[in-house]
Amino acid sequence: MEDCIFCKIIKKEIPSKIVYEDEEIIAFRDIKPVTPVHVLVIPKKHIESLLDLKEEDEKLIGKIYTVINKIARQEGIAEKGFRVIVNCGEDGGQEVKHLHYHLLGGRKLGIKICG
Ligand code: AMP
Repeated sequence: MEDCIFCKIIKKEIPSKIVYEDEEIIAFRDIKPVTPVHVLVIPKKHIESLLDLKEEDEKLIGKIYTVINKIARQEGIAEKGFRVIVNCGEDGGQEVKHLHYHLLGGRKLGIKICG
């Protein structure tokens, strides 16, 4: 997707602070962090939202959670805990139309976070 900001990050056309990358997944620091650790984990394949997932994506989505597990350990938030959020659609507060998982941690989280 040419005008997708996350696709541009994947292609390194715009800078980001990458914390993890493999052939299918990339994770980078959110530009406006709401917690001390705020990482976005995304598939490199352009999937617009959670509603656009297909059966063929099941393995990829499973892998995303394994990557989140790795990053949480790497960032030192595994022991105390963290939160993973996926916003979907307008009411869900999804601003960027490329499926992404917010990994939030580094402080005690309240009920209301990310919107
Ligand atoms: P959402 O509201 O779930 O669509 O979240 C989109 C997130 O992407 C927000 O938390 C933004 O701060 C973040 N974001 C937007 N542009 C960038 C960027 N260039 N680099 C890193 N994070 C970004």
